[in-house]
Amino acid sequence: MDLLTALVDKGLRREPPTRDEALAVLATSDDDLLDVVAAAGRVRRKWFGRRVKLNYLVNLKSGLCPEDCSYCSQRLGSQAGVLTYTWLKPEDAARTAAAGVAGGAKRVCLVASGRGPTDRDVERVSRTIAAIKEDNEDVEVCACLGLLSDGQAERLRAAGADAYNHNLNTSENTYADITTTHTYGDRVDTVERARSAGLSPCSGLIAGMGESDADLVDVVFALRALDPDSVPVNFLIPFEGTPLADEWNLTPQRCLRILAMVRFVCPDVEVRLAGGREVHLRTLQPLALNLANSIFLGDYLTSEGQAGQADLDMIADAGFEVEGADTATLPAHRADLAAARGCGGHDGAPAGVCGQDADGCGGGCGQGHPQAEPTGEAGGAEPAQGAAVAPGTVPGARRDLVAVRRRGAGTDLPPNA
Ligand code: SF4
Repeated sequence: MDLLTALVDKGLRREPPTRDEALAVLATSDDDLLDVVAAAGRVRRKWFGRRVKLNYLVNLKSGLCPEDCSYCSQRLGSQAGVLTYTWLKPEDAARTAAAGVAGGAKRVCLVASGRGPTDRDVERVSRTIAAIKEDNEDVEVCACLGLLSDGQAERLRAAGADAYNHNLNTSENTYADITTTHTYGDRVDTVERARSAGLSPCSGLIAGMGESDADLVDVVFALRALDPDSVPVNFLIPFEGTPLADEWNLTPQRCLRILAMVRFVCPDVEVRLAGGREVHLRTLQPLALNLANSIFLGDYLTSEGQAGQADLDMIADAGFEVEGADTATLPAHRADLAAARGCGGHDGAPAGVCGQDADGCGGGCGQGHPQAEPTGEAGGAEPAQGAAVAPGTVPGARRDLVAVRRRGAGTDLPPNA
């Protein structure tokens, strides 16, 4: 297939596809799906081998957010019934983080709900970072606290944070449809603040909110322009009790096409398979490891993932290996760039990411509306540019797989790791 040959060649040279090529990936047929995965897999292996980085989420503060992000189970007025609690004590957060590290995670992602932290919150998170690093000095810590104000990124960096996550979530054109209490521009500003402070920038998206193919391509190209070290790809978990509860627009095949498109656009960046993988990819999760080089271990912020051991078994069974703490995540050319801007991280190349996933977030994430399933053939196909969006439930949607997290942080039960 000419399209895929061209995209592999570009990916191996770290060149982006054209916008039409990215759209054509989303428009490939199910008959071509394995060819698409194999092609993007070649790009993934070129830059990341068969390594899978494990990350562990710790929800420091859950629910009761004043923001109105439509996708979020922690939003103002959410009836999703998620755990609600205020800031974890540093020692409790460190204990939860340690479980993730013991399970193989090399990065801990500290997330808090809310528009953004107060300076007192930053102090509190700084003490939490110290408590985590006291027990596990090599672990990477990513903070995800929402919109940052002057000086806060610098204080987090000084406290030992290696990375900062803040997702763009969806295209600039549709951002106001999913959130009204902050703007797309606010989000871009926070990612830039983090980068300027020497934090490894992590920023990603949420698919399945009803966006068109054009929206998806827009946000992924916008992310490439922001040049984060890592890009989490979330698939909307349509929680009952949130405005997007009926947006079941993703099939496993669609998820794989989206991941392949992200890999082609961001060939040498850490692409993280994030929230929603168990619900939407289901038994095709192992195929996604050919596209993403990073996943979250265990549970998410407000929803349960599969058992941590099942994650490890999946990686081994699919022929991949867990990335060790002594191995740099990013290719050398990107690690050099990160070091030049003063980013931390035990490997000198911290790939950013954390929280703000499709099941909730800390301080300003995003998610949107329903999705039109693309049709057509790769290569000679008409790209589904600006495809019309219509709400609906795809065949095979598994509402029964959405489970509110009831263990780990904020409970008396051990975390899933
Ligand atoms: S995504 Fe973040 S900012 Fe938005 S409602 Fe949820 S917790 Fe609040």
